[in-house]
Amino acid sequence: MPRDKAAEQLSDFKKSKAAADKLTTGHGCPLSDKLNSLTVGPRGPILLQDIQLLDEMAHFDRERIPERVVHAKGAGAFGYFEVTHDITRYTKAKIFSEIGKRTPLAIRFSTVGGESGSADTARDPRGFAVKFYTDEGNWDLVGNNTPIFFIRDPILFPSFIHTQKRNPATHLKDADMFWDFITLRPETTHQVSFLFSDRGTPNGYRHMNGYGSHTFKLVNADGKPIYCKFHYKTDQGIKCLSAAKADELCGCDPDYSIRDLYNAISTGNFPSWTMYIQVMTYEEAEKWEFNPFDLTKVWPHSDYPLIPVGRMTLDRNPKNYFAEVEQLAFSPANLVPGIEPSPDKMLQGRLFSYNDTHRHRLGANYTQIPVNCPYRARAKNYQRDGPMTIDDNQDCAPNYYPNSFSGPMDVKSSEGEAKMKVVGDVTRYNSADEDDYTQVGIFYNKVLNEEERGNLVRNIAGHLIGAQEFLQERAIKNFSQADPQYGAGIRDVLNQLKTQAAAQSNGGIQAAPASSAKL
Ligand code: NDP
Repeated sequence: MPRDKAAEQLSDFKKSKAAADKLTTGHGCPLSDKLNSLTVGPRGPILLQDIQLLDEMAHFDRERIPERVVHAKGAGAFGYFEVTHDITRYTKAKIFSEIGKRTPLAIRFSTVGGESGSADTARDPRGFAVKFYTDEGNWDLVGNNTPIFFIRDPILFPSFIHTQKRNPATHLKDADMFWDFITLRPETTHQVSFLFSDRGTPNGYRHMNGYGSHTFKLVNADGKPIYCKFHYKTDQGIKCLSAAKADELCGCDPDYSIRDLYNAISTGNFPSWTMYIQVMTYEEAEKWEFNPFDLTKVWPHSDYPLIPVGRMTLDRNPKNYFAEVEQLAFSPANLVPGIEPSPDKMLQGRLFSYNDTHRHRLGANYTQIPVNCPYRARAKNYQRDGPMTIDDNQDCAPNYYPNSFSGPMDVKSSEGEAKMKVVGDVTRYNSADEDDYTQVGIFYNKVLNEEERGNLVRNIAGHLIGAQEFLQERAIKNFSQADPQYGAGIRDVLNQLKTQAAAQSNGGIQAAPASSAKL
């Protein structure tokens, strides 16, 4: 088998070194023998004073940090964003200030439900998270390869994710858990339809689109706000894996997407995406037939056309995966002047939970880790101390505010958030039924061709067969509300699968366990 750039990584490192470095302890002292412990006689015992051994073992014992609860398996890369079109009438964000301006960035693509050793080609949404190191601090656009999501209220998020993971008793993926939740919350129907379409198994990370997914608010230099959605379209073209090929790769090359991205970048085949925005005025938002802040809906392109903004290019692989990718910490709360949150409830929930997670995974000072550090702006504030303070801790500057001794001053009001009026009764509004099917019907009928519709119903039925009959019926009822043909197609394939399974068991062959449950 030919060796690719990923396979040659160690040889390439060797070529880059004139001679090996001198081995040291973690404290930098030279080490004379890395192969033998310090023992009394050749057969031991080992001495407690073998500090080298103790240090090595103690560090090894602490190598793992908590895995991300979601998006645990991923690939990272670095590159830059270049503005190609002027959108300063919408936003004062410095990243978009002039055509030709380049901003460095880090990106992490991921699957969502699997553990960090899980297969890259599993049917799952893909994370598409970008950190822009702007002149005004880091802006993170933490999206997916879908413009929508399963739910519209973050209070459901932990339960939803539990259903995508393992049964608490069997520690197995469980089709009953999956379809029970999905069918009890029909707002999931749109995203479930994307997930089981061909785009649910993209061919690596280079051949898929990315979306900021949420509605954001842009604010221009005059303080005028407008709602906005972000899109990245792949310049490599969309390519998807058939369900059968994706399954095969799960077994024979579970790191398929990481390898593909690494090899492309290391051979100079730099992937790129074109960024677009859609915008909606406040007046349009008031009148629109749907809730513009509902994450289960798209904004139709015909009503809110894509406006080109720039190009994102990836041209560097991580030098060290743990340092630069495992510790890469994104947050939708990392916004810059000119880009603000909208009332989107899912976004509001995420504003809290990402930074909370990073404090748990990486510690209170995770923004000092080089890959997370806003290195083109530098943090100047009154936060101090805490575990793993690894920079100068803001040196001898005053640590309280206000002060009379030249500590950092707060910004002019023009750089603060835009003024926003909010009126309403405080209560827990039921958002279960906010037209869960119209856009699904459009997707099924107008976006997919006949072959894609066939794949969609086969992919759904192939998974739904693993769930109990009453869940199958509830699912068919929901899909039928988007289009009767959609539900009927799923029922037909389910019946075929049941007939096949019955024939196999009559012939003495035990049917495969229901649902390969790759999700
Ligand atoms: P358009 O025909 O203008 O846009 C359709 C969109 O669907 C395009 O962005 C296209 O992406 C994308 N698409 C094509 N095939 C698939 C697929 N198999 N899975 C997921 N997306 C696909 O229509 P509208 O904007 O009016 O939207 C109609 C429906 O299209 C929506 O209800 C929604 O389900 C779906 N959609 C809409 C998007 C939007 O932001 N408006 C984005 C993605 C999907 P591409 O051009 O890259 O092929």
